[in-house]
Amino acid sequence: MSLINENFLELQESYLFSTIAKKVAKFTEENPNKKIIKLGIGDVTRPIVPACLEAMHKAVEEIGTKEGFKGYGPEQGYEFLRKAIVENDYKSKNINIDMDEVFVSDGAKCDCGNIGDIFAQNNTVAITDPVYPVYLDTNIMSGRKIIYLPVTQENNFIPELPKEKVDMIYLCFPNNPTGTVLTKQELKKWVDYAKKNKSVILYDSAYEAFITKKDIPHSIYEIEGANEVAIEFKSYSKTAGFTGIRCAYVVIPKALKGYTKEGKEISLNQLWNRRTCTKFNGSSYIVQRAAEATYSKEGKKQINENINYYLENAKIIKQGLEQAGFNCYGGVNSPYIWLKVPEAMTSWEFFDELLQKANVVGTPGSGFGKYGEGYFRLTAFGTRENTIEAIERIKNTYNVT
Ligand SMILES: *Cc1c(COP(=O)(O)O)cnc(C)c1O
Repeated sequence: MSLINENFLELQESYLFSTIAKKVAKFTEENPNKKIIKLGIGDVTRPIVPACLEAMHKAVEEIGTKEGFKGYGPEQGYEFLRKAIVENDYKSKNINIDMDEVFVSDGAKCDCGNIGDIFAQNNTVAITDPVYPVYLDTNIMSGRKIIYLPVTQENNFIPELPKEKVDMIYLCFPNNPTGTVLTKQELKKWVDYAKKNKSVILYDSAYEAFITKKDIPHSIYEIEGANEVAIEFKSYSKTAGFTGIRCAYVVIPKALKGYTKEGKEISLNQLWNRRTCTKFNGSSYIVQRAAEATYSKEGKKQINENINYYLENAKIIKQGLEQAGFNCYGGVNSPYIWLKVPEAMTSWEFFDELLQKANVVGTPGSGFGKYGEGYFRLTAFGTRENTIEAIERIKNTYNVT
Protein backbone atom coordinates (compact mmCIF):
# COMPACT_ATOMS: atom_id res chain seq x y z
CA MET A 1 0.00 0.00 0.00
CA SER A 2 1.53 3.30 -1.07
CA LEU A 3 1.04 5.62 1.87
CA ILE A 4 0.93 9.30 0.97
CA ASN A 5 2.58 12.30 2.54
CA GLU A 6 -0.42 13.34 4.60
CA ASN A 7 1.00 16.79 5.13
CA PHE A 8 -0.39 17.57 1.68
CA LEU A 9 -3.87 17.21 3.16
CA GLU A 10 -3.09 20.12 5.48
CA LEU A 11 -2.66 22.51 2.54
CA GLN A 12 -5.37 25.10 2.05
CA GLU A 13 -6.86 25.05 -1.43
CA SER A 14 -5.88 28.25 -3.17
CA TYR A 15 -8.86 29.67 -4.99
CA LEU A 16 -7.35 33.12 -5.39
CA PHE A 17 -6.50 33.29 -9.08
CA SER A 18 -9.23 30.89 -10.21
CA THR A 19 -11.86 32.94 -8.35
CA ILE A 20 -10.53 36.13 -9.93
CA ALA A 21 -10.69 34.53 -13.38
CA LYS A 22 -14.25 33.35 -12.80
CA LYS A 23 -15.43 36.76 -11.59
CA VAL A 24 -13.79 38.48 -14.55
CA ALA A 25 -15.31 35.99 -17.02
CA LYS A 26 -18.77 36.52 -15.55
CA PHE A 27 -18.41 40.30 -15.70
CA THR A 28 -17.24 40.16 -19.34
CA GLU A 29 -20.17 37.98 -20.27
CA GLU A 30 -22.64 40.39 -18.67
CA ASN A 31 -20.86 43.49 -19.94
CA PRO A 32 -19.44 42.62 -23.36
CA ASN A 33 -18.80 46.27 -24.25
CA LYS A 34 -16.74 47.18 -21.20
CA LYS A 35 -12.97 47.07 -21.49
CA ILE A 36 -11.38 45.50 -18.44
CA ILE A 37 -7.88 46.55 -17.37
CA LYS A 38 -5.91 43.96 -15.43
CA LEU A 39 -3.54 45.36 -12.83
CA GLY A 40 -3.48 42.11 -10.92
CA ILE A 41 -0.83 40.26 -12.87
CA GLY A 42 2.36 39.20 -11.13
CA ASP A 43 4.12 38.53 -14.40
CA VAL A 44 6.31 40.79 -16.50
CA THR A 45 4.96 41.82 -19.89
CA ARG A 46 7.82 43.56 -21.70
CA PRO A 47 9.66 41.41 -24.24
CA ILE A 48 13.13 39.91 -23.74
CA VAL A 49 15.75 42.57 -24.46
CA PRO A 50 17.89 42.36 -27.64
CA ALA A 51 21.15 41.65 -25.78
CA CYS A 52 19.70 38.44 -24.28
CA LEU A 53 18.04 37.44 -27.54
CA GLU A 54 21.32 37.80 -29.41
CA ALA A 55 23.13 35.70 -26.82
CA MET A 56 20.51 32.98 -27.12
CA HIS A 57 20.62 33.00 -30.93
CA LYS A 58 24.37 32.67 -30.79
CA ALA A 59 24.16 29.79 -28.32
CA VAL A 60 21.60 28.01 -30.46
CA GLU A 61 23.90 28.21 -33.49
CA GLU A 62 26.84 27.09 -31.39
CA ILE A 63 25.30 23.85 -30.15
CA GLY A 64 24.52 22.94 -33.74
CA THR A 65 28.24 22.65 -34.52
CA LYS A 66 30.61 19.81 -33.76
CA GLU A 67 32.91 22.05 -31.71
CA GLY A 68 30.17 23.95 -29.94
CA PHE A 69 27.85 21.12 -28.98
CA LYS A 70 27.00 20.94 -25.27
CA GLY A 71 25.67 17.93 -23.44
CA TYR A 72 25.11 17.85 -19.71
CA GLY A 73 26.58 20.96 -18.15
CA PRO A 74 27.85 21.41 -14.60
CA GLU A 75 24.97 20.87 -12.14
CA GLN A 76 25.91 24.09 -10.34
CA GLY A 77 25.87 26.17 -13.52
CA TYR A 78 28.46 27.14 -16.12
CA GLU A 79 31.51 28.98 -14.88
CA PHE A 80 30.97 31.89 -17.25
CA LEU A 81 27.65 32.68 -15.57
CA ARG A 82 28.77 32.06 -12.01
CA LYS A 83 31.74 34.31 -12.63
CA ALA A 84 29.49 37.05 -14.05
CA ILE A 85 27.19 36.71 -11.01
CA VAL A 86 30.04 36.96 -8.51
CA GLU A 87 31.53 39.99 -10.24
CA ASN A 88 28.40 41.95 -11.08
CA ASP A 89 26.02 41.13 -8.25
CA TYR A 90 28.57 40.90 -5.43
CA LYS A 91 32.14 42.12 -6.06
CA SER A 92 30.86 45.39 -7.49
CA LYS A 93 29.11 45.95 -4.13
CA ASN A 94 32.19 44.98 -2.15
CA ILE A 95 30.70 41.64 -1.16
CA ASN A 96 32.94 38.61 -1.24
CA ILE A 97 31.16 35.60 -2.66
CA ASP A 98 33.10 32.74 -4.26
CA MET A 99 32.01 31.02 -7.42
CA ASP A 100 31.47 27.74 -5.57
CA GLU A 101 28.96 29.49 -3.30
CA VAL A 102 26.66 30.15 -6.29
CA PHE A 103 24.25 27.55 -7.70
CA VAL A 104 22.45 28.39 -10.94
CA SER A 105 18.95 26.99 -11.30
CA ASP A 106 15.75 27.13 -13.33
CA GLY A 107 13.89 29.37 -10.90
CA ALA A 108 13.74 30.94 -7.48
CA LYS A 109 10.35 29.38 -6.89
CA CYS A 110 11.90 25.92 -7.15
CA ASP A 111 14.93 26.97 -5.09
CA CYS A 112 12.79 28.46 -2.30
CA GLY A 113 10.79 25.24 -2.24
CA ASN A 114 13.63 22.74 -2.71
CA ILE A 115 15.88 24.25 -0.06
CA GLY A 116 13.76 22.48 2.56
CA ASP A 117 15.43 19.20 1.49
CA ILE A 118 18.53 20.00 3.51
CA PHE A 119 16.72 20.98 6.73
CA ALA A 120 15.14 18.83 9.42
CA GLN A 121 11.43 18.39 9.57
CA ASN A 122 11.29 19.44 13.20
CA ASN A 123 12.67 22.93 12.63
CA THR A 124 10.31 25.76 13.50
CA VAL A 125 9.83 28.17 10.61
CA ALA A 126 8.94 31.88 10.70
CA ILE A 127 7.00 33.24 7.76
CA THR A 128 5.47 36.69 7.25
CA ASP A 129 1.73 37.06 6.75
CA PRO A 130 0.75 38.09 4.03
CA VAL A 131 3.29 36.14 2.01
CA TYR A 132 4.35 34.68 -1.35
CA PRO A 133 2.70 31.25 -0.92
CA VAL A 134 5.70 29.08 -1.88
CA TYR A 135 7.47 29.33 1.49
CA LEU A 136 4.33 28.52 3.38
CA ASP A 137 3.03 25.64 1.30
CA THR A 138 6.37 23.88 0.93
CA ASN A 139 6.85 23.96 4.68
CA ILE A 140 3.35 22.61 5.24
CA MET A 141 4.22 19.80 2.81
CA SER A 142 7.26 19.02 4.96
CA GLY A 143 5.19 19.15 8.13
CA ARG A 144 7.20 21.86 9.84
CA LYS A 145 5.78 24.01 12.59
CA ILE A 146 5.07 27.51 11.30
CA ILE A 147 5.09 30.79 13.20
CA TYR A 148 3.38 33.68 11.44
CA LEU A 149 4.82 37.17 11.54
CA PRO A 150 2.05 39.68 10.76
CA VAL A 151 3.00 42.61 8.53
CA THR A 152 0.38 45.34 8.49
CA GLN A 153 0.25 49.12 8.46
CA GLU A 154 0.41 48.98 12.28
CA ASN A 155 4.03 47.80 12.13
CA ASN A 156 4.77 49.57 8.86
CA PHE A 157 5.11 46.15 7.20
CA ILE A 158 8.30 45.47 9.14
CA PRO A 159 8.05 42.01 10.71
CA GLU A 160 8.82 41.87 14.42
CA LEU A 161 11.31 39.35 15.79
CA PRO A 162 9.47 36.20 16.90
CA LYS A 163 8.86 35.79 20.65
CA GLU A 164 9.63 32.10 20.57
CA LYS A 165 12.83 30.69 19.12
CA VAL A 166 12.66 29.84 15.41
CA ASP A 167 15.19 27.88 13.36
CA MET A 168 14.39 29.01 9.82
CA ILE A 169 13.20 32.47 8.72
CA TYR A 170 11.88 33.38 5.29
CA LEU A 171 12.28 37.05 4.37
CA CYS A 172 11.44 38.58 1.00
CA PHE A 173 12.46 42.19 0.30
CA PRO A 174 11.43 44.13 -1.71
CA ASN A 175 8.34 42.27 -0.67
CA ASN A 176 5.74 40.51 -2.72
CA PRO A 177 2.83 41.29 -2.14
CA THR A 178 3.27 44.45 -0.03
CA GLY A 179 5.96 46.19 -2.11
CA THR A 180 7.72 47.31 1.07
CA VAL A 181 11.45 47.14 1.88
CA LEU A 182 13.73 46.83 4.90
CA THR A 183 16.57 49.24 5.59
CA LYS A 184 20.01 47.89 6.42
CA GLN A 185 19.39 48.63 10.07
CA GLU A 186 16.15 46.67 10.10
CA LEU A 187 17.67 43.75 8.26
CA LYS A 188 20.61 43.75 10.67
CA LYS A 189 18.22 42.92 13.53
CA TRP A 190 17.33 39.69 11.74
CA VAL A 191 20.94 38.81 11.06
CA ASP A 192 21.73 39.39 14.75
CA TYR A 193 18.74 37.30 15.80
CA ALA A 194 19.82 34.46 13.50
CA LYS A 195 23.35 34.56 14.87
CA LYS A 196 22.18 34.47 18.43
CA ASN A 197 19.75 31.60 17.84
CA LYS A 198 21.79 29.66 15.26
CA SER A 199 18.90 30.08 12.83
CA VAL A 200 19.11 30.38 9.07
CA ILE A 201 17.59 33.24 7.07
CA LEU A 202 16.21 32.34 3.64
CA TYR A 203 16.35 35.66 1.87
CA ASP A 204 14.36 36.04 -1.34
CA SER A 205 15.54 39.08 -3.27
CA ALA A 206 13.74 38.41 -6.54
CA TYR A 207 12.84 42.12 -6.78
CA GLU A 208 16.26 43.54 -5.98
CA ALA A 209 16.50 45.23 -9.40
CA PHE A 210 13.61 47.53 -8.46
CA ILE A 211 15.45 49.14 -5.53
CA THR A 212 16.00 52.83 -6.15
CA LYS A 213 16.44 54.34 -2.66
CA LYS A 214 19.75 54.52 -0.87
CA ASP A 215 20.20 52.55 2.35
CA ILE A 216 18.03 49.73 1.07
CA PRO A 217 20.25 46.64 0.87
CA HIS A 218 20.45 44.96 -2.54
CA SER A 219 21.79 41.79 -0.94
CA ILE A 220 21.54 40.46 2.59
CA TYR A 221 25.33 40.02 2.48
CA GLU A 222 25.65 43.79 2.74
CA ILE A 223 24.96 43.17 6.42
CA GLU A 224 28.05 42.20 8.32
CA GLY A 225 28.05 38.57 9.37
CA ALA A 226 25.14 37.62 7.11
CA ASN A 227 27.35 35.11 5.29
CA GLU A 228 27.24 33.03 8.49
CA VAL A 229 23.45 32.96 8.71
CA ALA A 230 21.83 33.59 5.32
CA ILE A 231 21.00 31.90 2.04
CA GLU A 232 20.08 34.32 -0.76
CA PHE A 233 17.73 33.60 -3.67
CA LYS A 234 17.95 35.66 -6.84
CA SER A 235 16.06 35.36 -10.10
CA TYR A 236 16.27 36.78 -13.61
CA SER A 237 12.47 36.52 -13.84
CA LYS A 238 11.47 39.98 -12.70
CA THR A 239 14.83 41.61 -13.42
CA ALA A 240 15.14 40.64 -17.06
CA GLY A 241 11.72 39.27 -17.94
CA PHE A 242 12.86 35.63 -17.68
CA THR A 243 9.59 34.31 -16.21
CA GLY A 244 9.22 32.12 -19.30
CA ILE A 245 12.91 31.53 -20.09
CA ARG A 246 13.63 30.33 -16.50
CA CYS A 247 16.90 31.16 -14.77
CA ALA A 248 17.79 31.97 -11.18
CA TYR A 249 20.47 31.27 -8.63
CA VAL A 250 20.96 30.65 -4.95
CA VAL A 251 23.95 31.69 -2.85
CA ILE A 252 25.03 29.47 0.05
CA PRO A 253 28.20 30.80 1.69
CA LYS A 254 30.71 28.26 2.92
CA ALA A 255 30.73 29.98 6.30
CA LEU A 256 27.08 29.07 6.79
CA LYS A 257 26.53 26.03 9.03
CA GLY A 258 23.64 23.86 9.99
CA TYR A 259 23.67 21.53 13.01
CA THR A 260 23.20 17.87 13.76
CA LYS A 261 21.10 16.89 16.79
CA GLU A 262 24.35 16.62 18.72
CA GLY A 263 25.19 20.20 17.75
CA LYS A 264 27.93 19.34 15.29
CA GLU A 265 28.40 21.97 12.55
CA ILE A 266 27.74 20.89 8.97
CA SER A 267 28.34 23.01 5.86
CA LEU A 268 25.01 23.83 4.19
CA ASN A 269 26.90 24.59 0.99
CA GLN A 270 28.10 20.98 0.91
CA LEU A 271 24.64 19.59 1.57
CA TRP A 272 23.09 21.75 -1.13
CA ASN A 273 25.84 20.80 -3.57
CA ARG A 274 25.16 17.14 -2.88
CA ARG A 275 21.43 17.65 -3.25
CA THR A 276 21.90 19.59 -6.51
CA CYS A 277 24.20 16.96 -8.05
CA THR A 278 21.76 14.22 -7.08
CA LYS A 279 18.50 15.78 -8.22
CA PHE A 280 19.36 18.40 -10.86
CA ASN A 281 21.18 18.45 -14.17
CA GLY A 282 21.59 22.18 -14.54
CA SER A 283 19.80 24.95 -16.35
CA SER A 284 20.22 24.86 -20.15
CA TYR A 285 23.30 26.29 -21.86
CA ILE A 286 21.20 28.60 -24.04
CA VAL A 287 19.40 30.03 -21.03
CA GLN A 288 22.61 30.54 -19.07
CA ARG A 289 24.09 32.45 -22.02
CA ALA A 290 20.99 34.66 -21.95
CA ALA A 291 21.47 35.23 -18.22
CA GLU A 292 25.12 36.10 -18.78
CA ALA A 293 24.06 38.71 -21.34
CA THR A 294 22.04 40.55 -18.67
CA TYR A 295 25.43 41.68 -17.32
CA SER A 296 26.79 43.00 -20.63
CA LYS A 297 26.89 46.77 -21.08
CA GLU A 298 24.04 46.69 -23.59
CA GLY A 299 22.10 44.15 -21.56
CA LYS A 300 22.27 46.24 -18.40
CA LYS A 301 21.13 49.34 -20.26
CA GLN A 302 18.21 47.62 -21.96
CA ILE A 303 17.05 45.90 -18.80
CA ASN A 304 17.29 49.12 -16.89
CA GLU A 305 14.93 50.75 -19.38
CA ASN A 306 12.36 48.04 -18.71
CA ILE A 307 12.70 48.35 -14.95
CA ASN A 308 12.31 52.11 -15.21
CA TYR A 309 9.21 51.64 -17.32
CA TYR A 310 7.63 49.48 -14.61
CA LEU A 311 8.78 51.84 -11.87
CA GLU A 312 7.17 54.77 -13.68
CA ASN A 313 3.92 52.78 -13.86
CA ALA A 314 4.23 52.11 -10.14
CA LYS A 315 4.64 55.82 -9.47
CA ILE A 316 1.55 56.65 -11.57
CA ILE A 317 -0.49 54.08 -9.64
CA LYS A 318 0.75 55.21 -6.23
CA GLN A 319 0.23 58.92 -6.89
CA GLY A 320 -3.20 58.36 -8.43
CA LEU A 321 -4.37 56.21 -5.54
CA GLU A 322 -3.15 58.75 -3.02
CA GLN A 323 -5.03 61.49 -4.87
CA ALA A 324 -8.11 59.29 -4.71
CA GLY A 325 -7.68 59.17 -0.93
CA PHE A 326 -6.22 55.69 -0.47
CA ASN A 327 -3.46 54.80 1.93
CA CYS A 328 -0.96 52.91 -0.11
CA TYR A 329 2.41 51.27 0.39
CA GLY A 330 5.23 50.01 -1.80
CA GLY A 331 5.44 51.16 -5.40
CA VAL A 332 8.80 52.90 -4.90
CA ASN A 333 11.41 50.14 -4.75
CA SER A 334 8.97 47.62 -6.10
CA PRO A 335 6.51 46.91 -8.91
CA TYR A 336 3.80 46.23 -6.30
CA ILE A 337 1.40 48.71 -4.72
CA TRP A 338 -0.40 47.54 -1.60
CA LEU A 339 -3.41 49.62 -0.69
CA LYS A 340 -5.73 49.73 2.29
CA VAL A 341 -9.28 49.13 1.14
CA PRO A 342 -11.97 51.55 2.39
CA GLU A 343 -13.09 51.03 6.01
CA ALA A 344 -15.64 48.30 6.62
CA MET A 345 -14.91 46.58 3.33
CA THR A 346 -13.22 43.25 2.82
CA SER A 347 -10.55 42.67 0.17
CA TRP A 348 -13.05 40.73 -1.95
CA GLU A 349 -15.78 43.36 -1.61
CA PHE A 350 -13.31 45.94 -2.83
CA PHE A 351 -12.33 43.63 -5.70
CA ASP A 352 -15.99 43.43 -6.77
CA GLU A 353 -16.55 47.16 -6.46
CA LEU A 354 -13.44 47.99 -8.48
CA LEU A 355 -14.43 45.50 -11.16
CA GLN A 356 -18.03 46.74 -11.37
CA LYS A 357 -17.41 50.47 -11.16
CA ALA A 358 -13.94 50.99 -12.67
CA ASN A 359 -13.59 47.76 -14.65
CA VAL A 360 -10.16 47.32 -13.12
CA VAL A 361 -8.86 43.99 -11.82
CA GLY A 362 -6.44 43.68 -8.91
CA THR A 363 -5.63 41.01 -6.34
CA PRO A 364 -7.40 40.78 -2.96
CA GLY A 365 -4.88 40.92 -0.13
CA SER A 366 -6.65 38.18 1.81
CA GLY A 367 -5.43 35.75 -0.86
CA PHE A 368 -1.90 36.15 0.53
CA GLY A 369 -2.77 35.40 4.14
CA LYS A 370 -5.03 36.30 7.03
CA TYR A 371 -3.30 39.61 7.70
CA GLY A 372 -3.69 40.58 4.05
CA GLU A 373 -7.43 41.01 4.70
CA GLY A 374 -8.39 44.65 4.20
CA TYR A 375 -5.64 45.22 1.65
CA PHE A 376 -5.38 44.97 -2.11
CA ARG A 377 -2.48 44.51 -4.55
CA LEU A 378 -2.01 46.35 -7.83
CA THR A 379 0.98 45.73 -10.07
CA ALA A 380 3.03 47.92 -12.37
CA PHE A 381 3.51 45.22 -15.01
CA GLY A 382 0.80 46.55 -17.36
CA THR A 383 1.30 48.90 -20.31
CA ARG A 384 1.67 52.64 -19.63
CA GLU A 385 -1.53 53.37 -21.51
CA ASN A 386 -3.59 50.87 -19.50
CA THR A 387 -2.02 51.94 -16.23
CA ILE A 388 -2.92 55.58 -16.81
CA GLU A 389 -6.44 54.72 -17.88
CA ALA A 390 -7.00 52.39 -14.94
CA ILE A 391 -5.92 55.07 -12.50
CA GLU A 392 -8.13 57.70 -14.15
CA ARG A 393 -11.06 55.35 -13.78
CA ILE A 394 -10.28 54.70 -10.12
CA LYS A 395 -10.02 58.42 -9.48
CA ASN A 396 -13.37 59.01 -11.18
CA THR A 397 -14.98 56.16 -9.26
CA TYR A 398 -13.87 57.63 -5.97
CA ASN A 399 -14.91 61.15 -7.00
CA VAL A 400 -11.58 62.81 -7.60
CA THR A 401 -10.80 64.65 -10.80
C1 LIG B 1 8.34 36.02 -9.03
C2 LIG B 1 8.95 35.67 -7.75
C3 LIG B 1 10.07 34.82 -7.69
C4 LIG B 1 10.73 34.32 -8.95
O1 LIG B 1 10.46 33.01 -9.20
P1 LIG B 1 11.07 32.29 -10.47
O2 LIG B 1 10.78 30.86 -10.21
O3 LIG B 1 12.54 32.59 -10.52
O4 LIG B 1 10.36 32.82 -11.69
C5 LIG B 1 10.61 34.53 -6.46
N1 LIG B 1 10.10 35.04 -5.33
C6 LIG B 1 9.04 35.88 -5.36
C7 LIG B 1 8.56 36.46 -4.08
C8 LIG B 1 8.42 36.21 -6.56
O5 LIG B 1 7.37 37.02 -6.57
